[in-house]
Amino acid sequence: MDFNDSAEEATFRSEAAAWLNANLPSEADLDGLTDMQKAKLWQKRKADAGWACIRWPQEYGGRGANAIEQVILNQEEAKLAAPNVGVFSIGQGMAAPTMQTWATEEQKKRYLPKLASGEEIWCQLFSEPAGGSDLAALRTKAEKDGDDWIINGQKIWTSGAQYSDFGIIVLRTDPNMPKHQGLSYFFLDMKSPGIEIKPIKQMSGASGFNEVYFTDVRVSDAQRLGEVGQGWQVALTTLMNERASIGGGGGAAGFKTAMDLANRINIDDKPAIEDKHVRAQLANWYVQESGLKFTGYRSMTALSKGEIPGPENSIGKLVGAPKSQDLASFAMDLMEQAGIVLDPDGDEMANLFQGTYMSIPGLRIAGGTDEIMANIIAERVLGLPQDVRVDKGIPFTDVPTSN
Ligand SMILES: Cc1cc2nc3c(=O)[nH]c(=O)nc-3n(C[C@H](O)[C@H](O)[C@H](O)COP(=O)(O)OP(=O)(O)OC[C@H]3O[C@@H](n4cnc5c(N)ncnc54)[C@H](O)[C@@H]3O)c2cc1C
Repeated sequence: MDFNDSAEEATFRSEAAAWLNANLPSEADLDGLTDMQKAKLWQKRKADAGWACIRWPQEYGGRGANAIEQVILNQEEAKLAAPNVGVFSIGQGMAAPTMQTWATEEQKKRYLPKLASGEEIWCQLFSEPAGGSDLAALRTKAEKDGDDWIINGQKIWTSGAQYSDFGIIVLRTDPNMPKHQGLSYFFLDMKSPGIEIKPIKQMSGASGFNEVYFTDVRVSDAQRLGEVGQGWQVALTTLMNERASIGGGGGAAGFKTAMDLANRINIDDKPAIEDKHVRAQLANWYVQESGLKFTGYRSMTALSKGEIPGPENSIGKLVGAPKSQDLASFAMDLMEQAGIVLDPDGDEMANLFQGTYMSIPGLRIAGGTDEIMANIIAERVLGLPQDVRVDKGIPFTDVPTSN
């Protein structure tokens, strides 16, 4: 493990920092814009100067940089109060690598540059009421009709469907094959007739994800990625990139913010930081965060050497998300009655813990639940026996269901 930049990495870091600092949108640039407009402005500015999606080849909107250069750019951007460009993460982090692997040259040239510049936003239509952790159990079907396929069914938990231009989707094209072999993968226009999007209200009050209903929606066979029946292999490209892009979970509340709070708040007329129970908790989170940081450095070292990081991302999410949830819960307890108030005009630090408390459960589910992450580590890292799979090899129509 080597924590220092190599000479080339240091040069790249100062070049990236200089560009970011010189081009960060000013308050006047952003005045009166919505969060979406701010994100689009910043992303387009980066893309125009060759600082968006820098690992992608130049002809698709990137600059052919390596993985460690992407990490360095992210680190430098994180130091600045830049507009949040999270709305592009599914498109750039999951749809784009899938398109790069499976789309035709013409499709790559049409779609990738607009993904990089944020001019077009994509969503991921995978999960269904019957297909979440067990994604290959999905039921939304596509039937061939001339040069098109006709889609009927329902997706759920589709983040950003309400503002997306395109979506990647896995569909059941042959129910008589075993479940993994009867799937095909497409991309489609989210404004296609027959698509109905219904936002789901979350406990935070936000509606980040949606139910999406398909009634006789037509998609051209030319928008199929991979062969008919090869949808699972194509989906694996997306899922591997999803794990990498979600990475070490955590949320905004961490050891430092909890420490600041413990210094500000009193327990029995004494600063909370003097309480031995509070100190023990803080020490515990410090240890966990240090472990996550150094595990992250292992990935960076692997990237720097041109290697592919191992299971670090599963560990990061499995440890980081519950840690943040515990920490936010503890901080809200420390704040006593004030802990239950989410006040948009109130104390910024208080909202930070409450916001984290309400969003982290989602992070423990999205992109693979805690239990699925533990299964991955058990099977692929520790070599333990596989989970029981009762539906292996039998036609999907013969898999018993409750309805
Ligand atoms: C914030 C958020 C954003 C999301 N965005 C998207 C999106 O944009 N697109 C999309 O397609 N999906 C999205 N999802 C859906 C997400 O991928 C699924 O919720 C997730 O895969 C779990 O599936 P499920 O909800 O059907 O739960 P289930 O799979 O029904 O799981 C229920 C419970 O059973 C446990 N369980 C299931 N199988 C096993 C097993 N084999 N061993 C042990 N325990 C098991 C799970 O851990 C969980 O506790 C999002 C979810 C969240 C929370």
